[in-house]
Amino acid sequence: MEPKYKRVLLKISGEALAGEDKTGINVEMTEKVAKEIKQLRELGVEVAIVVGGGNFWRGRSSQDMNRETADYIGMLATVMNSLALQDALLAEDVPARVQTSITMREVAEPYIWRKALKELSQKDVVIFGAGIGEPHFSTDTAAALRAVNIQADIILLAKNVDAVYSDDPATNPDAVKYDELTMRQVIDKDLKVMDLTAATICMENNMTIQVFGLSAENSMVRAVCGENIGTLIK
Ligand code: UDP
Repeated sequence: MEPKYKRVLLKISGEALAGEDKTGINVEMTEKVAKEIKQLRELGVEVAIVVGGGNFWRGRSSQDMNRETADYIGMLATVMNSLALQDALLAEDVPARVQTSITMREVAEPYIWRKALKELSQKDVVIFGAGIGEPHFSTDTAAALRAVNIQADIILLAKNVDAVYSDDPATNPDAVKYDELTMRQVIDKDLKVMDLTAATICMENNMTIQVFGLSAENSMVRAVCGENIGTLIK
């Protein structure tokens, strides 16, 4: 199989790492994700990753807490997930690094753009932790921004559903599945693929996004080989 994309940014939500547990880190799920990432690397694809933190904490759900504090807790949650994924990758003999947007030098490397590019070109997997390091943003925005920073060919947006639908397919049986969309349509139809900040960054930088379900067999490999396994957003 010949990869269509040479450098990809994989966005995995925190919930995806929780698997059926819904919260925390599910070891089997993390291993499954690591094995798929290993396959990408074996195809010669350069892989950068942004992991969410929703399996532990989301700033916007923190009720009375100061929003800044709540978001910093959320960013720390993404670092926990990043370290778990790094560990699972190293266990598969995949060289993997974590770069964080909030410095924590005993735990991970700081985010340094040129260093990330160098590590990617030497085929190390680079996991970006702590979002963009600022409250009031999401890891979707971090994924969009880092994808632009590293000039990724595509964002692979792993979801719990297999594609983008006109409505929630779990509650509306008439929900229509979209094969292809433009980012303008995503925004105008309010399809909630990413938040508006992330969507705008992608649109302004002509970033292509493949939305897909993590549970499908070999989903990542098929996506990098150019198969539209969910919804393609251009
Ligand atoms: N977060 C933040 N700034 C960022 C990225 C994340 O403040 O640049 C915080 C925010 O509180 C968010 C939490 O980290 O709710 C976890 O990220 P996200 O909700 O994007 O995770 P996901 O839903 O993808 O698991």
